[in-house]
Amino acid sequence: MNAEKLRGVLEFYQDLGFTSLYRRAASAAPVTETTSATVPTSAEPAMIELPGLAPADDSLQKIREDIGDCQRCRLHQGRHTIVFGSGNELAKLVFVGEGPGADEDMQGIPFVGRAGQLLTQMIEGTAKREGIPLERKDVYICNVVKCRPPENRTPEPDEMEICGQFLFRQLSVIRPRAICALGATAARALLGRKEGVTRMRGNWHKWRDIPLMVTYHPSYLLRPYNQNAKREAWDDLKKVLHFVYD
Ligand code: URA
Repeated sequence: MNAEKLRGVLEFYQDLGFTSLYRRAASAAPVTETTSATVPTSAEPAMIELPGLAPADDSLQKIREDIGDCQRCRLHQGRHTIVFGSGNELAKLVFVGEGPGADEDMQGIPFVGRAGQLLTQMIEGTAKREGIPLERKDVYICNVVKCRPPENRTPEPDEMEICGQFLFRQLSVIRPRAICALGATAARALLGRKEGVTRMRGNWHKWRDIPLMVTYHPSYLLRPYNQNAKREAWDDLKKVLHFVYD
């Protein structure tokens, strides 16, 4: 069974209310040769690495503590700061981006660079125009990976898999009314779909049982030739804000 299948089985058990599972040896055959202290004996079962399960009393603080001074993947090598997430921990709406850029890496806060300023403008400007009293501090913002990828490259699948468990725990703890996935990487991490944003945006999807909207990443909207996409992103955001706050 691969890690993805195993994760699915464990999440199924978690949904059923099981929070503790016990590991047993992969093989029932007794180990006869004990040539080194690290060789497992029949009394000491072989350990297999299980994907993390959220503790029953999970919290954002616990997740941050579990991340610790993370060195689980290669991204830790170039990072300055782990960018965990920011905003209202009881938010009804969570935005998920791809990963920190240079400004975020320096400040430890997601979406504070140029793309972040556009995101803030989009959230606050759209809310204001639609008569919804909402500021950036009222929502929660985080990323798929918490460390800046070198040269802002797209995170690799294994980096997304490792850091994704913390993102999933963040979303499970906050349990927002809706999630807005910014760009293809966030959509891929949350929906497991590889299509482009153009195909997925504008319609509701689900992460577990939480409605999820995919829209363009603000960095994409900063490019001068994407005016049409800008309009579409504003439409998507309007839809999300009315769904959550009406
Ligand atoms: N881009 C992202 O995806 N996340 C950030 O935090 C900043 C830029």
